[in-house]
Amino acid sequence: MDSFGESKQSTVDYEQLFHDLIKLEEQGPPGKSKNDVVVTIPVSESPSNSGISVSTAFNSSSEYGDGPSDVTLVSNDAVHFLVHRSRLLKASKSFGPLLAPDLDMLRLPEDANTLNVVVHVIYNIPFIQYTPTLDILLQVVKALKKYEIPLKSFLNPGTPLFDGLINKLPAMPLEVYLVAAENDLFELACEASKQLLSFLLTILTDEDVQRMGSIYLRMIFTLQTERLFVLRRLVANPPTAHAPTTTCGAGEYGRLKSAWSSASVNFVLDGKPDVSVVLLYKTLDAAKTDLPCTDCQQCVTQRVQEIVVRWSLTPKTIRMDVQDFFAVLPPALRYSGSVN
Ligand SMILES: [Zn+2]
Repeated sequence: MDSFGESKQSTVDYEQLFHDLIKLEEQGPPGKSKNDVVVTIPVSESPSNSGISVSTAFNSSSEYGDGPSDVTLVSNDAVHFLVHRSRLLKASKSFGPLLAPDLDMLRLPEDANTLNVVVHVIYNIPFIQYTPTLDILLQVVKALKKYEIPLKSFLNPGTPLFDGLINKLPAMPLEVYLVAAENDLFELACEASKQLLSFLLTILTDEDVQRMGSIYLRMIFTLQTERLFVLRRLVANPPTAHAPTTTCGAGEYGRLKSAWSSASVNFVLDGKPDVSVVLLYKTLDAAKTDLPCTDCQQCVTQRVQEIVVRWSLTPKTIRMDVQDFFAVLPPALRYSGSVN
């Protein structure tokens, strides 16, 4: 397949692929909670110090780390987290100046919900049970950065923080993309870009653009442009004519092309980079509705199946090699945007 989604020769079973794709699309993505539940972390009241709130995860009975805790982190709302200085120092040397040898309590400006996740991240322990909001997770990222805890180590695919942010993506994909971009977290930006296929880049603020930076801005712009270009190019090419029969020849092929133009015109003029394969299929397949020739109908069916498969294979995430797409564009198309 070339960069425009078309291949010159192929033995791909488009029909089988097509049916699999439509089935998957109609099933939709795996279920995820759409409700961003705010849950305050559970804390316990210390029996010997009435009024002191201690984390239920990091207290004197916790089994995390090696041996008993030797330092207490206190959030700005007075929740105590009993942790190990060795863990903190392993996560970031920035804790060194904060943790004097005789210090046994360190007050931090983060609230308990944020600090709770930060500590879980440092210990690499899942925190999904607290269902932190996206806002809390973004505060966590800021805190990790402030304490110089390397994001590329603690926010990799497969880490609890990465998975947590991915689960909250549908709520604020742009914010996640911005956080990923400003910290050069490519894998996270990739996931966010899936939700930004048709995001109107012209409404980005100056601050957004500054946070995104030229590289990530170009990647998301290229992704949208490429998908739009491929979509228009695919639908602009009508089904090929079948061999002439006694009842259907060149004249009737004109009728097929006309029907195809009517069905595809909205995608050519106003297609969106995130158009679904189901919508594409249903709209284009309507071109055969009024065709009297069954061979012509079959030509439409085959073309629609090819388009659906090729559209589903068109990249849905940003890529590093953004130059490749524009490099292969014929010079005339670089300026006109025409698909013909
Ligand atoms: Zn025909």
